[in-house]
Amino acid sequence: AIYADYAATTPVDKEILKKVIDSADVFGNPSSIHKFGKQAKAILEKSRRDVASLLNASPAEIIFTSGATEANNMAIRGVVARHHRPHIITTEIEHASVLNTFKSLSAEADVTYLPTHENGVIDTGVLKSALREDTALVSIMLVNNETGVMQPIYEIREILAGHDALLHIDAVQAFGHMAVDVKDLGADLLSLSAHKLYGPKGIGLLYKSKDVRLDPMITGGSQERDARGGTENGLWIQAMAEAMKRASDESTRRSLKEMQLKERFLNTLTMAEVPFEVNGDVNQSASHIINLHFPWSQAEFLLTALDMADIYLSAGSACHAGTLEPSHVLESMYGKTERSTKSIRFSFSYLMADEDIEHIVEALKEIYERLMK
Ligand code: PMP
Repeated sequence: AIYADYAATTPVDKEILKKVIDSADVFGNPSSIHKFGKQAKAILEKSRRDVASLLNASPAEIIFTSGATEANNMAIRGVVARHHRPHIITTEIEHASVLNTFKSLSAEADVTYLPTHENGVIDTGVLKSALREDTALVSIMLVNNETGVMQPIYEIREILAGHDALLHIDAVQAFGHMAVDVKDLGADLLSLSAHKLYGPKGIGLLYKSKDVRLDPMITGGSQERDARGGTENGLWIQAMAEAMKRASDESTRRSLKEMQLKERFLNTLTMAEVPFEVNGDVNQSASHIINLHFPWSQAEFLLTALDMADIYLSAGSACHAGTLEPSHVLESMYGKTERSTKSIRFSFSYLMADEDIEHIVEALKEIYERLMK
């Protein structure tokens, strides 16, 4: 089987799991004041320091969560709860965990959704004109999970300069593929998830600048500096810290390999004379994702045919799986055209071999030729 859906999730690095299992003997509750508790607390805080240093943050600025969905909710809901009917801004191309959170807040906040250009980059001109005195939050992703297109965060930061609005960055698809430094990005809030970095599912974090106050979403004990009640998931937190360390140490090697796979894929597909168009600007996209429009087939048909050939891909976000709805990202870029139902996302990993690319292209060519007969 060939898996090329690494933007949906990655396999867990078993070395990481082994390391974590070895520390399972330290089972105390980090909040207990006895020795077992203190030992657990020490491991937890070591993970927090490690993660903070990888992001150029301080340990007190890291809140561990159950994933990026929770981190995104925590950031957005936490800001809105501190204001009376604020204005908040996001983009049309965010992940469902941001978009649906904004939608659910439409009674408590005025919401603006920024449109995108055809190249997949959001329209910063609209951001400039939409910004108001009461804008409390701007939530923008660093790398789009469907197209891989990077968003102009530095320009956005400049537009926000001198303004009180907080900048929240969903950096889930960026970490490990490019530098993610919260100071350099000018992030007030930033979300990450471990399962996109060869860590386990169900663990993530929110970076929250020490200057930012949020109302907690999950009230309970005083864990995570009162930001999130509940006994900390120590083992998975360690696993996330280790996954981030490896992704960061090997970022150059991994993304170079991803870029080579992507380049090889586009070249081989062109040589095979399978008609396609790239969605978004390939020159502004992260190393691991490419989204292609195949005018000759519905995505659903293609994905099923590829699945039968043991090649596993997605049309876009896995979160809409089951029913294949038109991609909201492609609709934002190209309008309501058939492009949004005839496109497929390929997401690569350093774990893949060059032959995998050849197999994917062969399968696509075969399906194409069958359809053209
Ligand atoms: N944001 C983006 C850009 C994502 O790609 C994902 C994962 N599909 C998420 C948020 C949600 O992350 P999690 O699965 O950890 O909740």
